[in-house]
Amino acid sequence: MKIEKSDRINSLPPYLFKEIDRQKEEIRKRGVDIINLGVGDPDMPTPSHIIEALNKAAHDPANHRYPSYTGMVDFNEAVSRWYKRRFNVDLDPASEVVTLIGSKEGIAHIPLAFINNGDVALATSPGYPVYDIGVKFAGGQTYFMDLLKENNFLPDLGAVPEDIVKKAKMMFINYPNNPTAAVADSEFFKTVVEFAQANNIIVCHDAAYTELAFDGYRPESFLETDGAKDVGIEFHSLSKTYNMTGWRIGFAVGRAEIIQALGQVKSNIDSGAFQAVQIAGIAAIEEDQTCINEMNAEYTKRRDILVDGLCSIGLSVEKPKATFYTWVEVPKGYTSSEFASHLLLKAGIVATPGNGFGAAGEGYIRMVLTVGQERLKEVIERIRKVGF
Ligand SMILES: *Cc1c(COP(=O)(O)O)cnc(C)c1O
Repeated sequence: MKIEKSDRINSLPPYLFKEIDRQKEEIRKRGVDIINLGVGDPDMPTPSHIIEALNKAAHDPANHRYPSYTGMVDFNEAVSRWYKRRFNVDLDPASEVVTLIGSKEGIAHIPLAFINNGDVALATSPGYPVYDIGVKFAGGQTYFMDLLKENNFLPDLGAVPEDIVKKAKMMFINYPNNPTAAVADSEFFKTVVEFAQANNIIVCHDAAYTELAFDGYRPESFLETDGAKDVGIEFHSLSKTYNMTGWRIGFAVGRAEIIQALGQVKSNIDSGAFQAVQIAGIAAIEEDQTCINEMNAEYTKRRDILVDGLCSIGLSVEKPKATFYTWVEVPKGYTSSEFASHLLLKAGIVATPGNGFGAAGEGYIRMVLTVGQERLKEVIERIRKVGF
């Protein structure tokens, strides 16, 4: 029998890391000790009080049954209290909160609720790839707004062509940003609300990194902006905040009709997150938060080692205020892919070429802070030795 994939799968953007993967395999075979700065997945463990909460909840047979599709009442209430404490934003737990099996799940599914064939969504280049893929899977098209250094890696909404603005149904933004590590201020969010209101565009703000910030900086929620809850929702995740990427728990909050439409999609696809994980999630957001400070203190040290080190050997990179990413300018004479290959083949260092996150990421590589301080010191030594 002949197996034919759908147009949806066949039209996925080409996988840009084939060559890097091949090179990685080649040097691994040679026995090179590879330092992987490619994957944004916390290396530190989930705090033990959260694991204890899971352990206890996993033994309760009441949690072994199908959970509610849209989240346990207790979890959604904990999320609502957290938004009040952390951002002074009021949310009705019954209608303005939905629990997700990781925020990626909600981001990938939400276009199914609003995008018809041929509809347009706005997203950024570079950006988290799931926004575009989710839109494509729903039959829509993405218009990419470039994130440029001269605009502090914020999209220029005024530069989106008028016909695209008219057609656009939704837009995805993400601050603190992956991959550029840029942050947004309330002025920018105000512009977004005005733009969305004027053009009837649903805003989806991905806020996965609001708790990963340094030097006393406290990222804002998009929903703190006047009018934001009228135009949009915000995605959040416990993954990066509490080192829980493997647990698959996140949530979306904001305008009730949007949240409920996402809930409708989900109720036809999945059956909710394991209740024991939701109970552990409640422990994460309600109990002692010093684990976040400790984690951020560690990331701050790593950031200083990596960024100061890279600058000392002549590379150009801004010190991020938030996220565990660094967005490093590629030196003259290299493309993003060429520089990533150089670091890999000559120094055994994996970094992600910026164009893998969209065409406007060309000229950069992304390096993560999810490896220990000693390894990051070694990264600097290795690059110093091989040069560029
Ligand atoms: C890691 C990440 C997510 C996904 O987080 P999960 O909750 O683990 O699915 C979403 N958005 C961005 C920008 C991320 O970097």
